[in-house]
Order: sequence, then structure tokens, then C-alpha cells
Amino acid sequence: MPSPDDARRRDLDLDDLLRRVRGTTGGEVDDSIPQLADADPDLLGVALALPDGRVRTAGDAGASFSVQSAVKPFLFALALADTGGDALDRVGIEPTGEAFDALELEAGTGRPPNPMVNAGALLTAALVDGGDADGRAARILRGLSAFAGRDLEVDEDVSRSEQLLGDRNHALAHLMRSEGTLHVTADDAVEAYARSCAVLVDAGCLAVMGATLALGGRNPVTGVQVVDAAVARDVVSVMATCGVYDGSGRWMREVGVPAKSSVSGAIVLSAPRVLGAAVVSPPLDGQGTSVRGAAASAALSRELGLHAFAS
Ligand code: GLN
Repeated sequence: MPSPDDARRRDLDLDDLLRRVRGTTGGEVDDSIPQLADADPDLLGVALALPDGRVRTAGDAGASFSVQSAVKPFLFALALADTGGDALDRVGIEPTGEAFDALELEAGTGRPPNPMVNAGALLTAALVDGGDADGRAARILRGLSAFAGRDLEVDEDVSRSEQLLGDRNHALAHLMRSEGTLHVTADDAVEAYARSCAVLVDAGCLAVMGATLALGGRNPVTGVQVVDAAVARDVVSVMATCGVYDGSGRWMREVGVPAKSSVSGAIVLSAPRVLGAAVVSPPLDGQGTSVRGAAASAALSRELGLHAFAS
């Protein structure tokens, strides 16, 4: 029996939602690399990926951008899958209350604090099994493509910029090397992570990626079981507690949907058992979360009944 919520998810006027969200202003476009600094601040798109495989889009949902940190949940998923869960011994799962690129490891263990901050993603990218650096890069791209349900590509210019200008990521990789918690060279880890951040997506395929995690690891468009349900559950749990960095508590109260933010202004949302969604709008708040993306996410949550803790 379809519920009233199902009907709303099918019928909600997404164009109208974007019109309302346009009234939200503020934030700054990221300028850590030239390609991100060039982003159009007025870009605004939203997509929903539903369990029946339908993808609903509005605004600039077809515009492509580098996935940036929205890739982190998927790197964690691939690392869990490829290590048979051992990744959980190698990376913490506690929120840090610090910025995404803080030069900080877990006290006592020297492990990265969680897979949603840069230290953790440098490690999870390195844990994906591919033999050597090229094999790992290929396996990551294949895995991300399976989540998206289409063949994704790396923006080589973005990848080069990330590697050239990502001094804090190099520092974090060396810090983990010095603690004995990173098993590949610092350069290999930075390359694997930078290439992952440089994968081109759009809001539509990012919503499908979020839906695959929300729906037990099965891509609702292709029907492919990309990762085990237990892996998907682990990943979504950590998105809920750590996905919006030092803004995760406020996010959980205001939106109530596990999500991952990124400096490209995209946010991927995974509402367990219900749907995946993505929003994109480049201007960011002080915690690196898209300002209009957060407003759109709160509206989606409210209007589609997605808040995990609402009665
Ligand atoms: N590539 C960016 C970095 O590592 C991604 C950060 C992000 O999206 N928060 O600095």
C-alpha cells in the first residue's frame, strides 16, 4: 500500500522548492583550487532517487562538478568491502568537532578519527584493494561508477590541482606514516584521495549513489548489489554522526538525514529505507556546507517526512 509519504515523494514540486530556496543567500564559493573558485555561485540543482528506480530532478541537476568530499562515504564503503570489515580497525568512527582538514589523529592509536574527515578518507582510499596505485585508482572508479549506475570519469585538471595544492592532505598522510597507521606511501594515498575527489558527478547520479547506501547497498536504478547491506548500514551510521564535520549535530537536529557535505557545494543524503537525494549550490558556510544546499535539505526533510527522529 503506497503511503501518503510515498505520494509526496513522487509528487513534491521540486521546481517550487528550488524557487523558495533561492531566497536563502550568503556563503562563499571555495577557492582552494582554481577549478572550484570558478564555480557559478548561482548553480542550484536537486535530485531524488526513489526505491523504484525513478530519479526526479530540478534546476541544474544535470550540471557536472567534481564530487569532492561527497565521495568519502563511498570510499569508506569500498574499503569496508575490500578489507572484509578490517577497515573498522584502521579508522575511528567518532566525531571530531574539528574542521574537515584538521591536522589531528586519534589520541593513543594514531588512527584517523573517522572516515568522513580528510585523514580518514586518505586512509580509506588507500585501503581499497587494487594491487598497486593504478589498480587502486581503477577499482575506485569502477566502484564509484557502480554506486552511480553509470561510467564516471576523473577531471584530470582538478586531480592535478588537488595534488599540487593539497598541502594539508600531504601533511596528514605523512603524519599517519609517522604513526605507522598508513601502509602505502604518502604520495600514493594523496593521489588516490585526490583522484577520488576529482571524479565528475551531477546531482542526479549523486542522488543514486546516496540511494544505493540508503537501500541496503543495492542500486535502485541498475539493480546491482554494490556492497553488502551490513556495509551500507555501517557507512550511513557514520554519515549520521560525522558527515557534516563540526556541523553534524546541528545538521542532525535541523535536517535529521544522514548526509555528506563537500566543498563543491554538493550534499548527498541517504534516508535509510526511503530514498537518496543530492543538492548542489556552491556558496559554503564556515563549516564547508552549502548554504542553499542545507536549506534545500531541510525543506526536503520537512516536506517529505524524512527526519529520522520526528514522531
Ligand atoms: N578535495 C578537498 C580537500 O581535500 C575536499 C574537501 C571537502 O570537500 N570538504 O581539501
